[in-house]
Amino acid sequence: MNELNKEQLKEMMKSVAKRIVEAEPYLTEIDLKIGDGDHGTGMKRGFLAVERMLETFYPRSCEEVFQAVGTCLLDTMGGASGVLFGTVFISGIVKREERDTFSLKDFAEVFFTSLASLKKRGKAKVGDKTMVDALEPAVLALKEGSEDGLDLTEGLQKAAEAAKKGMEYTKTIKARFGRAKYFGEKAIGLQDAGATSVYIIFQAMADFVKG
Ligand code: ADP
Ligand code: MG
Ligand code: MG
Repeated sequence: MNELNKEQLKEMMKSVAKRIVEAEPYLTEIDLKIGDGDHGTGMKRGFLAVERMLETFYPRSCEEVFQAVGTCLLDTMGGASGVLFGTVFISGIVKREERDTFSLKDFAEVFFTSLASLKKRGKAKVGDKTMVDALEPAVLALKEGSEDGLDLTEGLQKAAEAAKKGMEYTKTIKARFGRAKYFGEKAIGLQDAGATSVYIIFQAMADFVKG
């Protein structure tokens, strides 16, 4: 598959939302070990709202799909991670012309800008044990894949693999943000919750285009 139209992009976001909602117990378990245990319920609340919103949403453009998902997360999740995940979906599209279809290049451009905004807003970089550890390699894979002329299916699969590696990498490092910071060395061996959610999102997108 080489591109998605706006209706297919909407369906893709529905399947992302479903995966996150299903992952709630897993995300809760991870955040309980190293945080305050609310990551799964926060993500579930946000993405249940996304699922509901998308039921009656008729997008004008692909950009509007991202905008609507991000706004929904901002409005319903609350807390730091509502802003962070809202940023991931919204900040990449604000300055773009609206289009009817999205190729690997579009995904790469949108998430590249989102990553920059997320890092600016949250101040975390790779190695700090946050969602950035999964998002940055995923975005770089999208960009590389797009430059190498991969199709959307291959490119999203590479991005999901890179996000998974980034998520695994968070087990090996200490945290510099959030409650996990106070764990010091005890954080080694424990996976970051936000990075896990980023992986789930990218794997769901990859699986959707695989069909
Ligand atoms: P909270 O930490 O407020 O309880 P969540 O549990 O929902 O919120 O989300 C925690 C996740 O947010 C962490 O696992 C981490 O990936 C991400 N996170 C926290 N602080 C930052 C930051 N400054 N930049 C990027 N991501 C962050
Ligand atoms: Mg938490
Ligand atoms: Mg909290």
